[in-house]
Amino acid sequence: MRAIRRFTVRTVLPAPLADLDDLAHNLRWSWHPGTRAVFADLDAAVWEQVDGDPVAFLGALGPQRLEGLAADPEMVARVRAAASDLRAYREQPRWYQRQTAAALPASVAYFSPEFGVAAALPQYSGGLGVLAGDHLKAASDLGVPVVGVGLLYRAGYFRQGLDRAGRQTETYPVLDPDGLPLTLLREEDGSPALVGLALPGGRTLHAQVWVAQVGRVPLLLLDSDVPANDAAARAVTDRLYGGAGDHRLEQELLLGVGGVRALRTHARLTGSPAPDVFHTNEGHAGFLGVERIREHVAAGSSFAGALELVRSTTVFTTHTPVPAGIDRFERRTVEQYVRALDDAGDLPVADVLALGAEDQEGGDPLVFNMAFMGLRLAGRANGVSRLHGRVSREMFAGLWPGFDPQEVPIGSITNGVHAPTWVAPEMTALASRRMSPHDLATGSGWEDGGAISDTELWELRRRLRSRLVDDVRRRVRASWHQRGASSADLRWVDDALSPDVLTIGFARRVPTYKRLTLMLADPARFAALLLDEDRPVQVVVAGKAHPADEPGKRLVSELVAFADQHHVRHRIVFLPDYDMRMAATLYPGCDVWLNNPLRPLEACGTSGMKVALNGGLNLSVLDGWWDEWHDDDNGWVVPTADGVDDPDARDAAEAAALYDVIEQQVVPTFYDRDEDGTPRRWLAMVRHTLATLGPKVQATRMVADYVAHLYVPAAAAGAALAADDKAGAVALADWKARVRAAWPQVSVDHVDSGGVDDAPRVGDRLHVRAWVALGDLTPDDVEVQVLHGPVGPDDEIAAFGVAALRLDDTYEADRYGYAGDVELTATGPFGYTVRVVPRHEALTSVAETGLVTTAT
Ligand SMILES: *Cc1c(COP(=O)(O)O)cnc(C)c1O
Repeated sequence: MRAIRRFTVRTVLPAPLADLDDLAHNLRWSWHPGTRAVFADLDAAVWEQVDGDPVAFLGALGPQRLEGLAADPEMVARVRAAASDLRAYREQPRWYQRQTAAALPASVAYFSPEFGVAAALPQYSGGLGVLAGDHLKAASDLGVPVVGVGLLYRAGYFRQGLDRAGRQTETYPVLDPDGLPLTLLREEDGSPALVGLALPGGRTLHAQVWVAQVGRVPLLLLDSDVPANDAAARAVTDRLYGGAGDHRLEQELLLGVGGVRALRTHARLTGSPAPDVFHTNEGHAGFLGVERIREHVAAGSSFAGALELVRSTTVFTTHTPVPAGIDRFERRTVEQYVRALDDAGDLPVADVLALGAEDQEGGDPLVFNMAFMGLRLAGRANGVSRLHGRVSREMFAGLWPGFDPQEVPIGSITNGVHAPTWVAPEMTALASRRMSPHDLATGSGWEDGGAISDTELWELRRRLRSRLVDDVRRRVRASWHQRGASSADLRWVDDALSPDVLTIGFARRVPTYKRLTLMLADPARFAALLLDEDRPVQVVVAGKAHPADEPGKRLVSELVAFADQHHVRHRIVFLPDYDMRMAATLYPGCDVWLNNPLRPLEACGTSGMKVALNGGLNLSVLDGWWDEWHDDDNGWVVPTADGVDDPDARDAAEAAALYDVIEQQVVPTFYDRDEDGTPRRWLAMVRHTLATLGPKVQATRMVADYVAHLYVPAAAAGAALAADDKAGAVALADWKARVRAAWPQVSVDHVDSGGVDDAPRVGDRLHVRAWVALGDLTPDDVEVQVLHGPVGPDDEIAAFGVAALRLDDTYEADRYGYAGDVELTATGPFGYTVRVVPRHEALTSVAETGLVTTAT
């Protein structure tokens, strides 16, 4: 029988336990073991049965049980104490409240298509979402006033299973928002607050707004499954990354445009301040800038002035060095949607379309590129590791013709992970019992001879490994049941893996570049590693392939087929349905975390950081964060065959190198034991990892970097442009227009140099003079620069220094004379050139206007 209508009956808490509602609905429980302990102690069996999900827990307890607990003064006191601890966490000043920068943002809006906050709120597919969740949690811990903005997908991402043959299956269980840690945003009259978006064809896309409270940080999630919508509009937020074409575009319009509208509604209803910085996690939310431009234009700004206001306060973080990972829509379709959503006709549509135009060399004129729009709408942009910053500058260099990649205005802030979420509670408990907060924060408490002995550390590592082995057996058994095996067939699972064998983990999404199956390149050699009699290795693998990614799904099948073989199945397992819950046991339980992407396609990677925080060692190609922070003692580098073009040859070479490292370095170090069975060298590496990587890989470090390097400068720039009724923005836009119009007349007419003889030596000073025509511009509008450095055989100055030349008093025949010195600091071939670039105090980079004239 199918119900024609459904609703969820909510638990009524007895008054003495009323605080439980707050404790369950604030996701701080997900990183606060103390709060979880209160729930568990209320009823351990039910807590286990609901997999540690507080909202489900309260529903499952039932009125009688709750009344019984409400009569227990000790329990009531604990609940009240936990609630008051949460209130203190939310209200007391934290790190941010001690900052003294003049332009501290009052509020930062953080947009992301996915958020991985907890397994109980499954709104993520992988690293991008989990990073967004960690960003919010770390912002909360630091007291940074962030508001998250995303979508509520009714079926989240898919759940992965395996069929009998070992192929990935996908299911989409529909979530009931009332069973999630969410609260509906309501108007003062109690009705759901709605945001609306006009669509082509006279339709409207409505969405309600759910609020997930992440510690101090509210996360607004837009949900289009409301009665006011037609069937198609209701389905816009059906699944994460489920659709293509118009469906995807409508999701991104709802996230960007609807997200800004939701923020306005939220501010109106809660009295919270309007965001003064907008941060977009990847390009999917890029339309937020279009909406903000529309707001300014509706309030009287020109498009150009509005663009400056928006750019100055927008931060764009790019996450993919894979061009296929960028959203591109048909330009024509975007045009229809933009025309529709701006019912008052405020937006100059051609200017909006130009934001996403692929007008660089090799671009497609029929396409609207979301990453390009993201970069054009953001005054500040960054990649997510040092290497990824460099790769991104090259990848997007076409947007700034005339500038070398080193000057492309994309910086980098290396990702971090939220330690309270990802460190095993046993580890946190031991460390905080023995170490001072200072020794914990600096990592020095982990050093040898410190607070924790080798024996204790090794016992802890074994306990974590053992817990993983139990979890693996439970999951393998469940998976085989689902694949049709009977309990009698599954006795072998009781002995799958061992708590004393070197454990290597590999879990991540399965796009082909991550190379899930590289370890299978030489099956015989790999099996020999697993099955070694004295020094065996066991491997735990997990990962979901996107449902439309057939090659990725084939990789899953290959891996499963290998792991299904009788002679190795006790040493290698594939666990279906990788998620944050699995991760919480998997990361701490692994001795070694394997990462073998095709370099440099892994922008950062964060799972290895989470493993490191638990004392696991990384075994990784030099990509993402590992390229930056590996050293000889915190793990191992898998050598890469970077220049090799033939993909099969490259895979074979890198797989062979991987086996070599495991056989010659990893295995011997793990099994090298002293008399009492302790692996001293291994533990030295574990300590070194905890001590040196521990402080760096923190999400709080990452968020503090965003505050210092991006949020505060953006807020300052925005305030300057907005002051005096936006006078600064008008002036900047006018100045850019004037400079752009006059630029064709700018030229470097003549350059000469002196000061060195024909055999220059290190330490000599080269005296450079240049004569420059500026047309209608004045020297105040420009900077004349000498670029200098070592040159290659083709006269390219690969890594150059830049020095401003000063205006000489000579002015003749409409030309300005400039001069300056360059000290020769290195031996070998040297070259220089001279260029003119626009100069204005509000420019965030030399390349911002794209204008440059270089001597020829
Ligand atoms: C951390 C995490 C990821 C991201 O890991 P990468 O190393 O970036 O691939 C993906 N999924 C889950 C569940 C995670 O916790």
